[in-house]
Amino acid sequence: MKKSMSDDVITINKVSVPPGTHTLVDLPISPLYTRTPLSIPIHVVNGAKPGPILLITSAIHGDELNGVEIIRRLLKLKLLDHLSGTLIAIPIVNIFGFIYRSRYLPDRRDLNRSFPGSKTGSMAARIADLILEEVVNVCTHAIDLHTGAVHRSNWPQIRADLNDAHTLKLASAFGTPVLINGLYLNGSLRKSTVSRGIPTLLYEAGEALRLDEFAIHVGVRGIINVMRALGMLKSKVTTEKTAPPVIAQASQWVRACEAGLILSPKPLGESVKAGDALCFIANPISGEETPVHSPVDGIIIGVNHLPLVNEGEAIFHIVTFKSYKSLNKVNKELKAFEYEFLQDSDLLLSL
Ligand SMILES: [Zn+2]
Repeated sequence: MKKSMSDDVITINKVSVPPGTHTLVDLPISPLYTRTPLSIPIHVVNGAKPGPILLITSAIHGDELNGVEIIRRLLKLKLLDHLSGTLIAIPIVNIFGFIYRSRYLPDRRDLNRSFPGSKTGSMAARIADLILEEVVNVCTHAIDLHTGAVHRSNWPQIRADLNDAHTLKLASAFGTPVLINGLYLNGSLRKSTVSRGIPTLLYEAGEALRLDEFAIHVGVRGIINVMRALGMLKSKVTTEKTAPPVIAQASQWVRACEAGLILSPKPLGESVKAGDALCFIANPISGEETPVHSPVDGIIIGVNHLPLVNEGEAIFHIVTFKSYKSLNKVNKELKAFEYEFLQDSDLLLSL
């Protein structure tokens, strides 16, 4: 298999997908101990015209569902009939975790900490190696779809190596107002794709085991925007100008100063100033209420929705920007972003 712009047949697991066709390829993995066979289904939409080969992956953490629905909706869009290049979509990378509604594999390993893996290592290592060898090796670009953990919701955000100009262009095209210049986690799929020279975006939105319509909508539209930026889809003729996204300089978690029940938490996407009360922690026995203050100016991009906390548990994830002026700019963007979504939630039907 060669890594190139798609100008001919795409071959995965010895299944050839010629230009102008859409094939569901099964990539077999270890069967269950019941001898029930298992495979990872991979959609290969090979456009009639040549172009980039874009990989979209989701549910590499098996309990993260928004990406599965994003890919389902994406594949139903008629505009894929006029695709230049190839879309390779894996809705459920971690089949085991998805079945068991778990982030992990049955041995509690995290598949997204197991790349590049090996042919003789753990189950996670073998799946990671298979994905790289059979799929990643034929791709030119990648988008990995994630959500927050159980009870932890993320505001839609792109994490990527924004020091790379091409990646920055794609991240900006995706259309979330906040971009995070992210470090790669060791063992992640993203680290392996980037080390192979594949520009990669990581989309984070919503929480595990929940479907979040806002996160799904932004995700589908973001992928379409990236495909347009790559020349895989025709660009919509538009005269409207959207402000460029703002790049977060850093982020930090705000933790519970004591144990109790969280009251009146600030919502996702809210901008805060240092000293603002983010929530109150109520003691169910003494009745006392203690405010939790923001240590920084920033935007809330992650929230723990479980109202019970122990001292030290993370409650809010806040990104910070270079200056207060920058924060004001983000504020305007966020308001416009949500407003547009609320006004135009049927947008995808017209694509
Ligand atoms: Zn994840």
